[in-house]
Amino acid sequence: MMAEKYVDLDTLKYLLNDVHDLNSLLDRERFQDHDPESLDLFIDSVKQFADKELFPYLREMDENPAHHKDGTVMVHPQVKTMMEKGGELGLISAPFDYEEGGMQIPLLVQTVTAYILDAANNHLPGYTGLTQGAAELIVHFANQTLKDTYVPNMLSGRWGGTMCLTEPQAGSSLSDIVTKATPTEEGHYLISGQKIFISGGDHQYAENIVHLLLARIEGAPKGTKGISLFVVPKNRPDAHGTLTPNDVTTVADFQKMGQKGYCTTHLGFGDAGDCRGFLVGEPNKGLHYMFMMMNGARIAVGRGASAIASAAYHASLQYANERPQGRKLTKDGTKNVDQKQNLIIEHPDVRRMLMMQKAVVEGSMSLCLLAAKYYDLEYTATSPEEKRKYNTLLEMIIPVVKTYPAEAGIDAVNNGLQILGGYGFCTDFVLQQYSRDIRISAIYEGTTGIQSQDLLGRKMTMGNGEGAKMLMDEMMQTIQAASQIDALRPYADILSQKMQKTVAIFEHLMPFAMKGDYERFLADASIFMEFFSLVVIGWSWLEIGVNAKQALLTGNGNYSEDFYESKLTTLEYFFAYELPKTSGLAEILMHPTTVTIKKEKETIC
Ligand SMILES: Cc1cc2nc3c(=O)[nH]c(=O)nc-3n(C[C@H](O)[C@H](O)[C@H](O)COP(=O)(O)OP(=O)(O)OC[C@H]3O[C@@H](n4cnc5c(N)ncnc54)[C@H](O)[C@@H]3O)c2cc1C
Repeated sequence: MMAEKYVDLDTLKYLLNDVHDLNSLLDRERFQDHDPESLDLFIDSVKQFADKELFPYLREMDENPAHHKDGTVMVHPQVKTMMEKGGELGLISAPFDYEEGGMQIPLLVQTVTAYILDAANNHLPGYTGLTQGAAELIVHFANQTLKDTYVPNMLSGRWGGTMCLTEPQAGSSLSDIVTKATPTEEGHYLISGQKIFISGGDHQYAENIVHLLLARIEGAPKGTKGISLFVVPKNRPDAHGTLTPNDVTTVADFQKMGQKGYCTTHLGFGDAGDCRGFLVGEPNKGLHYMFMMMNGARIAVGRGASAIASAAYHASLQYANERPQGRKLTKDGTKNVDQKQNLIIEHPDVRRMLMMQKAVVEGSMSLCLLAAKYYDLEYTATSPEEKRKYNTLLEMIIPVVKTYPAEAGIDAVNNGLQILGGYGFCTDFVLQQYSRDIRISAIYEGTTGIQSQDLLGRKMTMGNGEGAKMLMDEMMQTIQAASQIDALRPYADILSQKMQKTVAIFEHLMPFAMKGDYERFLADASIFMEFFSLVVIGWSWLEIGVNAKQALLTGNGNYSEDFYESKLTTLEYFFAYELPKTSGLAEILMHPTTVTIKKEKETIC
């Protein structure tokens, strides 16, 4: 049974236009051809596309997984529709320059449209999303010949694209990549190696797939400093556009617990010694280039997780509004069995689980939009100082944007499933699918463990703590605005205390790094991530609260009173039920134990 709704379009548009002030971005030269009305129409057209071409196929794609057959991967026919119509609608070309055939649409708007698609059917948008990311790398770093050869067919959705990093021995640790690139006199390289877990790596509808692949040129330095980036097509086009197989073999398709319609391939390169790769940019700078795509991909993973949690929230909300069960307690603590059963939404425990979902979904939705806005502000900056500021802020929040929606989203979907009771566990209802689909979000694009090390080990210490200070300055501005409004002052005070606690924790941990004991410094990085994410999402909710309260006080808002009140109720929930979890996490972070650090004589693990 499907739910009727998968996303709240009003909330998305409210966050876009009111909280994150899209209009202020449209003053920038790059976006000056756009106005809020035309972008609103673009968003509506994507919603209609998602309603018609994505949402109805969600269950079907789970029940008919992608699978390896006769040397290719068989996927659901909607993959073809997604690529073709996605190309026509401009879903792939949206952020590109006009000269490249793009639409120069802000990433902020594109994050809204992609959110809608992810919430409708998370098995499909990856095909167009990865094609866009791969084309972006070519546009930014490759030579004109590679651009002319590949980009137009990718932006139209005719050819797909992938990011090919992972190898059997190199997952989290990309420094261990061994795929080889041997230079030839003709200028191209011969590629040989294996890549695993490659999303969208091959399928029966792909005339061509353009792999953006990391490999090591013979003789390159060890580690990440010796990794280069190559365009490696499945079929290589000649000067007339005729395609010749490029010795890329589809070895297998991984069978997964979720996202079964989004194929995940094992690819072999150069088994017959004739796989040609074309160097992107300079040798040994591959990982640096790939990071550009990875930051976009990390926002995309957080956005996707939040979107799946949104769909699960709406499905469980609908169920809670329809399912009668039990009765509310009477004043003497008993139940009156002569009374009609109540709907389960009236039970406080069910309401708590719904509010938790709403708080996670909308809080993380807002954070993803903030990341996209920082990206746009950096991209269109008019001075080096401004560019640096927004680059730093983006770098600071990227690990949280990737991780919080994934980890909290998994818990949120779990609450949604719980609301359905026994039916939550049954395949007749979609909740079990969402709980399987969202699970990958904490694994790909850098696991939670790796993102947490990035946050604590790199981002918090970046520029001697300059990035952390910049982010806290942004938070302080919201705290100050909230302090001006009586009803929000208590929340402003709480968030301010949590920021002081963040500093205290950091001052407790930093001496370990200064003594060179990095293992101890980073041992609880994931706990620090959990702590810090709650503070950051508390900030997101306070920002929403300031906006909603001002709209109510001035009467100038575009939405109903109920709409704003529901935001304030969710803010209250977050500060009463979610943010206090930081106290327990802080206790763990300040504890002197080293129990998880492996000793020489180990008894347990
Ligand atoms: C469905 C799916 C789609 C994917 N799509 C792509 C794709 O399109 N392109 C691509 O290149 N890759 C892709 N991947 C690969 C994905 O990015 C990796 O699976 C991920 O980075 C983890 O690598 P791994 O699986 O080798 O796990 P490992 O690196 O072996 O990690 C196992 C566990 O150990 C922990 N760990 C590892 N190293 C450390 C450390 N130094 N410190 C602390 N903890 C550590 C991890 O956090 C994790 O919990 C995909 C994977 C899946 C499952």
